[in-house]
Parts: sequence; structure tokens; C-alpha cells
Amino acid sequence: MADLDFPPHSPRLGEAFYQTLLESTRAIPWCIDWKTLAFTYIGPQIEALLGWPQDSWKSVNDWAERMHPDDRDWAVDYCVSQSKAGTDHEADYRALTRDGQYVWVRDVVHVIRNEQGEVESLVGFMFDITERKKVDEKLSELQKELEELSFKDGLTGVGNRRMLDSVLELEWSNARRNRQPLSIIMFDIDYFKQYNDGYGHLQGDECLKQVAKILSKGATRARDFFARYGGEEFMLVLPETDNESAIKVAERCQQLIFKAQIPHAYSPAGQLVTLSMGLATATPAQRDSIQALIKTADSRLYRAKQSGRNSLISAG
Ligand code: GH3
Ligand code: MG
Ligand code: MG
Repeated sequence: MADLDFPPHSPRLGEAFYQTLLESTRAIPWCIDWKTLAFTYIGPQIEALLGWPQDSWKSVNDWAERMHPDDRDWAVDYCVSQSKAGTDHEADYRALTRDGQYVWVRDVVHVIRNEQGEVESLVGFMFDITERKKVDEKLSELQKELEELSFKDGLTGVGNRRMLDSVLELEWSNARRNRQPLSIIMFDIDYFKQYNDGYGHLQGDECLKQVAKILSKGATRARDFFARYGGEEFMLVLPETDNESAIKVAERCQQLIFKAQIPHAYSPAGQLVTLSMGLATATPAQRDSIQALIKTADSRLYRAKQSGRNSLISAG
């Protein structure tokens, strides 16, 4: 572009200095005359970035057309309204390359006024921010993953203990407020130590995953919640469920595990993986605590173990 009228000449440094500066920087400088909306300058680096030659940038239309259709409306509207208002601004958008790809660009725009205070021209710099956008996307993916990890058990993918504690507290206060029964079922795999000893820890992990997947089917209603309580123990939280209905859920879980026929050759209780279960139900009164309900379920689970395992205790 021959008619370079930007930047102003400096008596000390000379035009060559500015020219070199403008054309060697990674930021791509440009200048638009506000009256004609024509480019009076754009750095030659634009061709390396987008593929469109320097002299193909004639007016703001070329700029608007070489933009992702999803970004075009807001980016053009925003930049035009800011320029009209005489406000410096910046915009991130996807610029179209000559071979049909898109590059994330940040345009930083300064408004130049004449002595009367009228907008005369726009001077800007385009930055390639593709890498930065990639990092931003990666970061938000990681953030999402982290949020999931914070309430999921790492091995089995079901709710973790932390999430379980929150759900229990919440459902306990719901049950108290609405005077509804809350049931919980505690599951513990029988002779799991022998399973690990016999098949190895990795196979033990696989077994935990399989059992978790099966038992999570016990959660059938929207607010039912299944979690790993710890080790080879799991818990099912059943809001607005009385003892009788919860027994049916527990029996169904036991059947599902039986149907899966997971071999356990080292179990004194038979040849298959089995569970012991402790079930407790409460319609909480003001003074009761969730800890008392968990304790009841736990002691019933203990009694199920005492009574020969592969069984359910739900009362007494
Ligand atoms: P019981 O029938 O009385 O429940 O006996 P048990 O052997 O199942 O119970 P115990 O508490 O003696 O042993 C639990 C075993 O569960 C021991 C521990 O190594 C194993 N375990 C706990 N967490 C994991 C895990 O994440 N992966 C594997 N593979 N094993 C685990
Ligand atoms: Mg246990
Ligand atoms: Mg066990």
C-alpha cells in the first residue's frame, strides 16, 4: 500500500523505522478512513495469517465478509456502534482464511478524532489468539471434569462419599419439613477380602465396578441416589419411601446381583458374589439426626453378616 499515512512522521526516527516496526510485529496493524470506510493501510503480515493478500483488503465489507457467520452480526454491530460513539474497543472473533479455515483474532481498535472532535479514522491491531482460545477451551473442559470428579467416585463412577453426605443432609431436612419417610439401604459385599486374595486386586476393582453398576439400578425414582460409601460398601438413599417399599427395592437389588452370577469361588457363602444389606427408615422429628439413621442401618448390616450373609435386615 503506497499511501501510508500512518503513523505520523517523526523527525528523529524516520519513516523507514516506523515501516519496519509496523511490518515486523506479530500484531497486524490496520487503518480505516471513517468517512469512506476504506482501508488506508493493513500490514503485509495479514497474508501470512489469513492468506488474503494485503491489497485485497479494500473496505470494511472485506473485513465483515471474512468473518465466521456466527460472529459476524454481533462483531460488526458492536464495532460500528463503539466507533460511532468514539469509544476505543476490542473484539474477539473468528476470521476466515483463504483456504476456508477459521483463526481466532482479537481486534484492538482506537478511534482517532480530528481537531473538531469528529471521528476521522480507526486504527487497530489484529492479534492471532488461536492458541489462547485453545488453552481457554482446554481449561473449561478441565474445569468441567474437575466438577464431575468432585462428586463422582473415581473407580466406579457413581456418587462419592462427599456427595452422599450432602444428599443425606438435604433429604433429611426435606423429609423433616414434609413429614415424609426417608429410607436408606447399606450394602456390603460378602467376603470381599477373599475375593481380592483369590482373584487379585485388579479383578477386585472390576468386581466393584460391576456391582456398582448393578446396584445403581436400584435408584429408579428421580431423587433416589446411589453412592459408594467406602471400600466395598454402597448406599442407596430413597426419599419419600416407607420401610415396606424400601424392602422391595433391596430385594430387587439382591436379585439383580444374583442374576449377574459374578463368580466368587473363594466365598464361604457360595460360589457367587453376594451382598449383606442393612435397611433403615425414619420420618424425622425435630430432634433426630441423620447419624442415628445411618447407625441403625449399619447395625442391621452387621446383623445381616452375623446371620450368615447374603441377607437383608430391615427392622429390630
Ligand atoms: P464381610 O463378608 O464381613 O464383609 O468380609 P469382607 O472381606 O468383605 O470385609 P473386610 O472389611 O474384611 O474387607 C473388605 C475388603 O475390601 C478389604 C479391602 O482390601 C477391599 N477393598 C476396599 N476397597 C477396595 C478397592 O477399591 N478395590 C479393591 N480391589 N478392594 C477394595
Ligand atoms: Mg465392609
Ligand atoms: Mg464386605
